[in-house]
Amino acid sequence: MLQRTDVVIAGAGFAGLACAAALARRGLGVTVLERKREAGSGMHTTGILVKEAAALACPPPAATRRITEVRLYSPDMQCLRLVSPDYFFLATDTPALMREMSARTAALGVDIRYGEGFQGAGEEGAELCLERHGLRCKFLIGADGARSSVAEYFSLGRNRHYLVGAEAEFEGADDAARAFHCFISRRHAPGYLGWAVPGVGVTQAGLAVNNPHRPALRGFLDHIRDAAGLEGRRITGHRGGRIPAGGLVRPFARGNVILLGDAAGIVSPLTGGGIHTALHYGALLGEKIADHLLAGGAYPAARMARLYPRFHLKRAQRFIYERLARDGLVNAILQNPAFRLAAEQVFFRLQRLPPS
Ligand SMILES: Cc1cc2nc3c(=O)[nH]c(=O)nc-3n(C[C@H](O)[C@H](O)[C@H](O)COP(=O)(O)OP(=O)(O)OC[C@H]3O[C@@H](n4cnc5c(N)ncnc54)[C@H](O)[C@@H]3O)c2cc1C
Repeated sequence: MLQRTDVVIAGAGFAGLACAAALARRGLGVTVLERKREAGSGMHTTGILVKEAAALACPPPAATRRITEVRLYSPDMQCLRLVSPDYFFLATDTPALMREMSARTAALGVDIRYGEGFQGAGEEGAELCLERHGLRCKFLIGADGARSSVAEYFSLGRNRHYLVGAEAEFEGADDAARAFHCFISRRHAPGYLGWAVPGVGVTQAGLAVNNPHRPALRGFLDHIRDAAGLEGRRITGHRGGRIPAGGLVRPFARGNVILLGDAAGIVSPLTGGGIHTALHYGALLGEKIADHLLAGGAYPAARMARLYPRFHLKRAQRFIYERLARDGLVNAILQNPAFRLAAEQVFFRLQRLPPS
């Protein structure tokens, strides 16, 4: 006998938890299946929240550090300092943030099953049967990351174009440090950037590169050691993963199975930031499913087809960046006012998502 619930979500990441919380607030039954054994373990992200994402995630203050300045370095290590009086980022203790989000979502009545990865589902009329999980539901959401098992199982669109990120975590960070260091270097980070950020009790430094390149972390860390204040700090951990960079996958839904977050490819192709979109569209998808189930609203996948971002402008900007950002050129134009303006747009102004 299968237990009936309204929605099953694969993945208790940012997207899955945001969607689950929105559904539970509307009184719907939700079960989240998560492959990891516990909340916050094995994180693959740097976990920097743009200001708008911070407002959605509400991280515990003790798990954050406010970042108020961006230092952008050219390949020859000239530095351009960018500040915006009305903008900030939050570096986070991401495992602590995930534990907090998980506890908040569970407190709304969501059944979160850790250590239970998605094992497949069959369609039976208008319902989905997840025999191996003992569940029957009306909607299944694939919020299981860039290499989604749900997408694979239901032959949905997959992320084909992506960046590969790798990061080291160093012990300690200066109390007064507030700068997010970004390094442009085609040699070390072809197609993207390197970064270093003072976090919560640690300093995180890494890079992402265009597939099929592989991130050469050690050489990059040597390159930035002085600028990022890494000298004398011990490495305490490593993380990394894929960052979708090709935009919305097609198709992102079939029947009552809908992809969300990295699984759907809704990550900014320009900045590689995906936490804000995961939280925003996770909550939105939850609302649209609730409207459909409780008030006969439109089919949620049709609604999301109009709402999910296509990133046309950001993909065009990325195309130009990949082709024009030669090291010599960047060295020559870093201090140019037009370059500063463009950089300020990317870091401080392009984070807003369209209203829903
Ligand atoms: C190195 C790196 C650094 C990054 N830094 C930033 C940053 O600083 N700021 C930012 O905004 N974005 C950053 N990103 C991108 C950001 O991390 C993602 O866009 C974001 O985590 C997407 O959230 P999500 O919930 O869709 O997916 P995820 O966070 O990947 O969550 C998916 C969840 O699904 C689970 N799962 C996987 N398979 C299964 C399965 N079969 N069954 C059940 N559960 C499953 C996973 O364990 C995971 O918990 C970074 C990415 C990388 C790789």
